[in-house]
Amino acid sequence: MNVLVWFRNDLRITDHPALALAAEAGEAVLPLHIVDPAEWAGAARSARQWDFRAESLRELREALAALGAPLAVRVGDPVAVLDKLCRLHRIGRILCLDDPACGPLDLRVAEWAASAGVALAILATGPGAAAALRALPAVEPGPIPPARALRLAPDRCPHRQTGGRAQGLLLLQSFLDRRAEGYRAGRDHPLLAERVSSRLSPHLAAGTLSRAEVRAAVADRLAARPGGDWGPGLLAFRAALAPPAPVAPPPEDRAADPARLAALHKAETGLPFLDATLRCLAATGWLPARLRGMVASVALHHLGLPEHAAGAVLAAGLTDHAPPVHWAQIRRAATGRPADPIALAASLDPGGAFTRRWLPELAEVPPPFLQEPWRWSGAPRLLGRRYPEAVVDPATALRDARHRLAQRPAAPPVELIDWSGARPLRGRRMPATPGQLCLDL
Ligand SMILES: Cc1cc2nc3c(=O)[nH]c(=O)nc-3n(C[C@H](O)[C@H](O)[C@H](O)COP(=O)(O)OP(=O)(O)OC[C@H]3O[C@@H](n4cnc5c(N)ncnc54)[C@H](O)[C@@H]3O)c2cc1C
Repeated sequence: MNVLVWFRNDLRITDHPALALAAEAGEAVLPLHIVDPAEWAGAARSARQWDFRAESLRELREALAALGAPLAVRVGDPVAVLDKLCRLHRIGRILCLDDPACGPLDLRVAEWAASAGVALAILATGPGAAAALRALPAVEPGPIPPARALRLAPDRCPHRQTGGRAQGLLLLQSFLDRRAEGYRAGRDHPLLAERVSSRLSPHLAAGTLSRAEVRAAVADRLAARPGGDWGPGLLAFRAALAPPAPVAPPPEDRAADPARLAALHKAETGLPFLDATLRCLAATGWLPARLRGMVASVALHHLGLPEHAAGAVLAAGLTDHAPPVHWAQIRRAATGRPADPIALAASLDPGGAFTRRWLPELAEVPPPFLQEPWRWSGAPRLLGRRYPEAVVDPATALRDARHRLAQRPAAPPVELIDWSGARPLRGRRMPATPGQLCLDL
């Protein structure tokens, strides 16, 4: 029986029990990645995310080719692609890894697989690697499409992180060798965070590295009992690494104010710390968690944007966009205390170096007025000319947001994606590799 190994957000050949199982069985293997245009058409998606993924796919294709079976890439609706390939290549079994981002899709695939008589096994993540693969004959690998083929808008991100496992491993190494010492103290700092944070997030989102291997590398480093601030830094990092409970994307329940949405999109809200943060995001594709939280909170509470719209603007800027993580954090910002961007700037960017780096048009604004340029006597020659007027009065917007929050009835419970239990998937749990479970459909 031929077997198809479906790679989703697990673009690696190690820590991959599905690939290991296929290799062990000695069957002819078709490794596949499906690019779903509908998924990439969403407002939260962007060319920077695709470019990172395309680089990771290229590297995965090479790694799989070295094992004997290069990665095939197909563009289309996943069920239609799987149906066509299974018929064409007489595939009797599909193996893949469980993935919180794929819950609703897995339901559709499970339904199709049952009707098509194809066995589908969704395996728990865990250890496992293939020594060699027997390729299915006569399979065209297929091109890895450029971003424009997916109709993604041109997206200049000069400091975007590079995809592929090799880059991920280099980052992990440099973090554990040199950078983690400053993690605890510097991870929220707008200027230091880009160095002392691991920057592993796009690799964990695409699965070029597994969380388990990162955790194991941290454990090895901790076992060497590093002194100074290394231990606390590594422990704080290990705690951050635990995946939060995933949350479903919010409904598109109301329209966003177009002027405010555009201001957020263009980093022209007139609130300097927010605009500086948004420009940093546009140029790098990354922000530390604290600044992501501030962007989300101000977009939701000060600007009054709905969760789906505010979350999508932030997500599209992130190379590491991971829907289950992202929407959980947006929900948290929506239900939590509204952030005060002026107070946050005072604590995170007291000298204004970060704000001035990204907003050079504010160079002449004296330090006491940097975050509130409307209070400066020179404001008339700056605001509405070289820098926009604030879209909202931040003090009034904050007061109103706090008032609204105090009036609001208790938030309904967050809808978690219980992807292991709540899916109406039926099957027998069986070990995939020793110690691992798989949901055999
Ligand atoms: C509003 C908002 C939106 C977010 N959207 C995303 C997203 O789309 N994709 C994403 O990967 N992370 C998201 N995060 C979480 C967090 O900000 C990033 O994971 C982190 O900043 C990535 O940088 P790093 O890899 O250097 O993190 P490090 O601090 O070095 O942490 C290592 C890893 O731990 C995990 N992690 C760290 N902090 C968090 C956190 N607060 N919540 C969940 N996981 C965490 C990530 O996998 C991260 O790569 C969001 C946070 C907020 C507040």
